[in-house]
Amino acid sequence: MNTNCLQGVMCPQCGYTESFSIMLDCAGVVTDDGLAETTHPTWDNSSRITCEGCEHDGRVGEFRQPAFYVTFETVTEASAETGEHARSGWWEPGGWLLEGADNKPPEPAYLFDPGDVDDDDHEDLDEAIAEWAVALLKREGAMHPNCEPSDDATWWGTEGNEVLDFASGETIRKSFHFHGFSDQLRRRVNARMAKED
Ligand SMILES: [Zn+2]
Repeated sequence: MNTNCLQGVMCPQCGYTESFSIMLDCAGVVTDDGLAETTHPTWDNSSRITCEGCEHDGRVGEFRQPAFYVTFETVTEASAETGEHARSGWWEPGGWLLEGADNKPPEPAYLFDPGDVDDDDHEDLDEAIAEWAVALLKREGAMHPNCEPSDDATWWGTEGNEVLDFASGETIRKSFHFHGFSDQLRRRVNARMAKED
């Protein structure tokens, strides 16, 4: 799993994550004698990239490892009376609550791992990702799309009746936000989820 320069980068065609050929941006000072010095090479989401595993090419922004970021809102009996949330922010597996909209964690709560895919079980990588996403959303009870019809949903939320604290009656609702999915793949997951009702 990449944790440094290539964090979150994955070939959408074959799931390769180890190395890529990327067209770098860099300026060089050139004299009649040749290249004298160069600036530090950089790249961004619009840079051209080629997978070293399968030769698939595209833009860096399209080579994303699918993931879900999870936000939460809680309600207590007291906050419900005023129609407000008791707490809100980002949720991490294990029950960590990072309060505040600005507190987005550096890594998503759930990350698709192409190393877990058994090639014999799936038609292609997209199918494996769609199955992973649907299984995760179902397991976590995130069965409510943020819009109806759900084709264009960008996140799926839980029922909101999970009790955090019996004394204050605090309940939590979690929302699972698509990250690094192509629009086509997100719609495929949404169509699959709509059938699960
Ligand atoms: Zn590839």
